[in-house]
Amino acid sequence: MKLKIPLMKQPKSPFLDPKRLQKLIFTWFDRYGRKNLPWQQNKTPYRVWLSEVMLQQTQVSTVIPYFERFLQQFPDIESLANAPLDSVLHLWTGLGYYSRARNLHKTAGLIKKNFAGIFPETLDALEDLPGIGRSTAGAILSIAFKKPAAILDGNVKRVLTRLQGLTEWPGEKESLTYLWKAAIHYTPLNRPDDYAQAMMDLGATICVRGTPSCEKCPLKKYCIAHLQGIEKNLPRQKPKKKLPVRHATLFFYSKK
Ligand code: SF4
Repeated sequence: MKLKIPLMKQPKSPFLDPKRLQKLIFTWFDRYGRKNLPWQQNKTPYRVWLSEVMLQQTQVSTVIPYFERFLQQFPDIESLANAPLDSVLHLWTGLGYYSRARNLHKTAGLIKKNFAGIFPETLDALEDLPGIGRSTAGAILSIAFKKPAAILDGNVKRVLTRLQGLTEWPGEKESLTYLWKAAIHYTPLNRPDDYAQAMMDLGATICVRGTPSCEKCPLKKYCIAHLQGIEKNLPRQKPKKKLPVRHATLFFYSKK
């Protein structure tokens, strides 16, 4: 049965000790995390970037054959930058959200032109490139360059929202700022690549939308949503806009 979350704003919970959380996450990842996905082998910035972009809005099982075909035809930045846009779009057919393919092509051209074909290694430079948001930039830095950069994709956002028991809509500016602070706070200096992968895996396989498998979760002892029994209600949906209410008085005349 769904529990009703009080509508009033709840105070935001303090963050846990990051070391404790990281230990739990690494122990779980070493045992259960996914390590054989195609983009987890030979983790170059190009491959990580491509997989991150393909995985936005699309499931892993759908992405795998696209990822492999794309790499066969465009194995590196240079080949992608030199390709006509039409052939990139052709390879993307069926994956949807075609602006992703256009941005990949544009970004490959910019990296070739402005960075001699080598991926930049700073958050600012990556975020300046078309189609690379803060979380994708964080994934490239942490997974490919092993730098302690935070990520906050849809999966990680769901985990952190529940862990912290955030009862407001996570898309709100204030909530997003809080979630980014949490993401940065928990990101380790060591093994940032495994940590990023583990958090994405946790969200994709355990802390799923709807009913999460909390009994299998390494964070269940500390997760506020789980401890309060409200995990199925979080993340909270975007609040609906209230329609303006108009009051009118109707008069009826009857002829007698
Ligand atoms: S305990 Fe449940 S709700 Fe909390 S992070 Fe784990 S899977 Fe998600």
